[in-house]
Amino acid sequence: MADAEFDYDLFVIGGGSGGVRAARIAAQYGASVAIAEEYRFGGTCVIRGCVPKKLMVYASAYSEHFEDARAYGWDFDATPSFNWETFRERKDMEIARLEGVYRKNLHASGVEIHECRATVAGPHTVRLADHGREISAKHILIAVGGRPFVPEFPGSQHAITSNEIFHLPELPKRLLIAGGGYIASEFAGIMNGLGVEVTQIYRKEQILRGFDDEVRTHVQQEMAKKGVNFIFNETLDSLEKTPSGLIAHVANGEKIEIDQAMFATGRRPNTDGLGLENAGLELGRGGEVPVSAYSQTKVPSIYAVGDVTDRLQLTPVAIREGHAFADTVFGGLDVKPDHELVPTAVFTQPEIGTVGMNEAAARERGPVEIYRTNFRAMLHAFADRDERMLMKLIVDKESRRVLGAHVVGHAAGEMAQLIGIAVKMGATKEDFDRTVAVHPTASEEFVTMRTPVGG
Ligand code: FAD
Repeated sequence: MADAEFDYDLFVIGGGSGGVRAARIAAQYGASVAIAEEYRFGGTCVIRGCVPKKLMVYASAYSEHFEDARAYGWDFDATPSFNWETFRERKDMEIARLEGVYRKNLHASGVEIHECRATVAGPHTVRLADHGREISAKHILIAVGGRPFVPEFPGSQHAITSNEIFHLPELPKRLLIAGGGYIASEFAGIMNGLGVEVTQIYRKEQILRGFDDEVRTHVQQEMAKKGVNFIFNETLDSLEKTPSGLIAHVANGEKIEIDQAMFATGRRPNTDGLGLENAGLELGRGGEVPVSAYSQTKVPSIYAVGDVTDRLQLTPVAIREGHAFADTVFGGLDVKPDHELVPTAVFTQPEIGTVGMNEAAARERGPVEIYRTNFRAMLHAFADRDERMLMKLIVDKESRRVLGAHVVGHAAGEMAQLIGIAVKMGATKEDFDRTVAVHPTASEEFVTMRTPVGG
């Protein structure tokens, strides 16, 4: 039941990963809850992030499956070809189905849905864009996520972002991807696998900053083997429209003829025009909403979760933050979201799975032992595919704890989830050693590496 003073106990702005979870859990605790979504329920992850992207990863991987199939004894007459329109339509149907599930779950939890933009009019007041109607709430949760950002430069209006790539009318023949983060690198692999000629341009010396350096080099080299072209330490000066496509002018004078340019050079929080200043709230330098460990802002009635807070921009983290908020504010519990040792995957091709520290960070912390293996997995050796796996454990020399586990190769994301449990529990190298291998798998290498590098 709503506090008599307010229309609702909770008003959530943003129907993505964090907002939907918070709304549903708060309602399950008996709070009266409303949520506003200006685009589509499910948010970035479901509509134009993790889910459609992973479907595209699956689709693109078939080009290699077809190649390897013959080595495994399969015979087929026709040369396989990819139909983007067929895939796009089926993908869109799946996304629509998932969006429906989100709506259904909100309805089932008793959350009232507003399909419009909402802004903050005061510490307890939300304004709905459809009728300008003002609604009061004891608590407001900001869960508006972020959006891709293209810097301004001559011709930048011709660039697309991850938002548009899912809906292209047709696949380009030649694509330039600007950026070195995980979104840029994942789409380089996807498009390359779908038969597009891909060039990835990045202003620094190697992609995937923040990940383990050996992992970064390994992935980039494997991507290059598969056909992705890389340009490092360079930026784009301009994009010039031509009758047949675009010319990308690189700062070093190089001109690249392309059909499309995708920018994945950063994301910005969706706080423009959100009205947080009406509640007396100041934004951070990047436009993010600063929050406490409990996701509470400086205005006690306003909380924020997910990408808009610029902590760890991952769906499961946004979900955890939303859940912890509802547990604490409406469930009488004391729950802080835990941002330590978050396992994660990058769906490059080959894929990365990782949890914990990279080698450089671990070495700064103290003496470490490094265990590493680099091999051709049975899957690829049999098909004579030139692709290698990398596995790496970073062990604290004194306590023997595994500080970081990194893997590049087939099913690396699946491995990261499970190895994440061991690392989170504080497993030591000796715990790994006394775990019997699962044979024949690639992941068994994690428990059979006996000698530290250089040892
Ligand atoms: P969002 O999911 O972005 O939801 C915010 C919602 O608020 C949106 O639906 C938006 O329309 C709505 N909104 C904004 N302003 C208003 C307003 N004023 N009024 C009403 N509604 C509003 N994460 C992973 O963990 N794994 C992955 O593999 C992965 N892949 C990704 C791939 C891509 C291409 C992208 C872009 C992101 C990916 N992410 C991935 C990140 C993940 O999508 C986000 O971390 C996650 O969606 C954040 O959830 P959120 O609730 O903070 O925001």
